[in-house]
Amino acid sequence: MSKSAPAPQAALPSVNRVVELPALRPLIDAHGRAFVTDTVRAVLAELRHELAAPGDNAPPDPSDTAIVARVGAALAASLNAAPRPLFNLTGTVLHTNLGRAPLPPEALAAVAAVAAAPSDLEFDLASGQRGERDDHVAGWLCRLTGAEAATVVNNNAAAVMLVLNSLALRKEVVVSRGELIEIGGAFRLPDIMARAGCKLREVGTTNRTHLGDYAAALGPRSALLLKVHTSNYEVRGFTAAVDIGALAALARAHDLPLAVDLGSGTLVDLTRYGLPHEPTAAEVLAGGADLVTFSGDKLLGGPQAGIIAGRADLVAKIKRNPMKRAMRIDKMTVAALAAVLKLYRDPARLAARLPALRLLSRSTDELQALAERLAPPLARRLADVATVEVAACESQIGSGALPIDTLPSVALTIRPLGPKRRAGGPLRRIAAAFRALPTPVIGRVQEGALLLDLRCLEDEAAFLAQLEQWDIGQETNR
Ligand SMILES: *Cc1c(COP(=O)(O)O)cnc(C)c1O
Repeated sequence: MSKSAPAPQAALPSVNRVVELPALRPLIDAHGRAFVTDTVRAVLAELRHELAAPGDNAPPDPSDTAIVARVGAALAASLNAAPRPLFNLTGTVLHTNLGRAPLPPEALAAVAAVAAAPSDLEFDLASGQRGERDDHVAGWLCRLTGAEAATVVNNNAAAVMLVLNSLALRKEVVVSRGELIEIGGAFRLPDIMARAGCKLREVGTTNRTHLGDYAAALGPRSALLLKVHTSNYEVRGFTAAVDIGALAALARAHDLPLAVDLGSGTLVDLTRYGLPHEPTAAEVLAGGADLVTFSGDKLLGGPQAGIIAGRADLVAKIKRNPMKRAMRIDKMTVAALAAVLKLYRDPARLAARLPALRLLSRSTDELQALAERLAPPLARRLADVATVEVAACESQIGSGALPIDTLPSVALTIRPLGPKRRAGGPLRRIAAAFRALPTPVIGRVQEGALLLDLRCLEDEAAFLAQLEQWDIGQETNR
């Protein structure tokens, strides 16, 4: 970093002169002239800007060598994998912003196979006639939920929208005031209802809704009763809600369908894996619901998808809605979902084979041992910057599933050295340095420390290997 005055902007070379530099030849051969020229133009514009408005940073270096290096870095940055894989050590297993459920190898292989070649996606090999993409998964879904029929769309938000629009267009949908949820990312039930063309008929109060409230609201304009699983909050204290059985009886008496939006619906009883109970799709249907909707990439552990399962006549009506065509899943999702559903055939081996369930059911003994192996090398790496301790923590399932129940876990707790009251800046820089790694590491900041919850760390070797290359001191002193 030179201390001399910044070079005048006029000293910057032209785009053409830079493109003709011999040092850029290999990049042009690798990526083509047009892309490299655009990148050179952007780098020179950036330099011109930095020279015109020198901030607190060292003045930029306008030499040819420095420009070539910047062009190389800019090209590499635009060619980085996007989205990039990372280590999710936030402690939230099914993290919506980090891509939710990781897929098992069976699903990856199935995706690669149908992505690379034509397939019988909508073709019946036996008859030679047109087939249906739903058919690849509907049988498994019926088997696992006890439903008569099933169909799949892009995500559960689409599933709810499609159910409402198919069964209650311009009519009333009766919902408890205690279940008018907002899920992160702008899924708000009243808004979905309006866009689906339905009229929301709220009943009961925030904390208590009784069967009589539903009964009083039913009339000639009613088309559907909807129960929504309160997946990301819990109403506690003086509360009352109507269970599915009672609601189903009321719906039947009025010849109306009952749909249940489970959100993170699961297909197996999670208690057998040592997890808290979450209602299964089968329980909800057996309890009397006519339709159930849930996500493919939450507790189910598959690709992003929205599953609608239940009465055959209702599913048929939903499939006839033209909106279904706009929400249909692609062939890679069909392949991944089919592969994941097949793993459910043997619940005894599911926790070993399905990554989402494997991560959720890892024992604290295993996590403690992992933490004790990782703490010393990490502490050596961070020696001038922070302390590293092994500590108990709590993981969350995420994606709104089981919002209150947490899972005991183990974390590496990283605390910056130096005076406590000034630790905010250093802590932010340490967290940023972890995010800047080639495979970014995302932890969570809690009580003045950066926590790396190890529940979702399976590739220990890759995690350690990149630590060895890491100059954290340089990163955090920037
Ligand atoms: C998560 C959730 C949704 C939205 O599902 P996506 O698959 O994210 O579209 C809808 N309803 C409930 C109750 C949920 O928990």
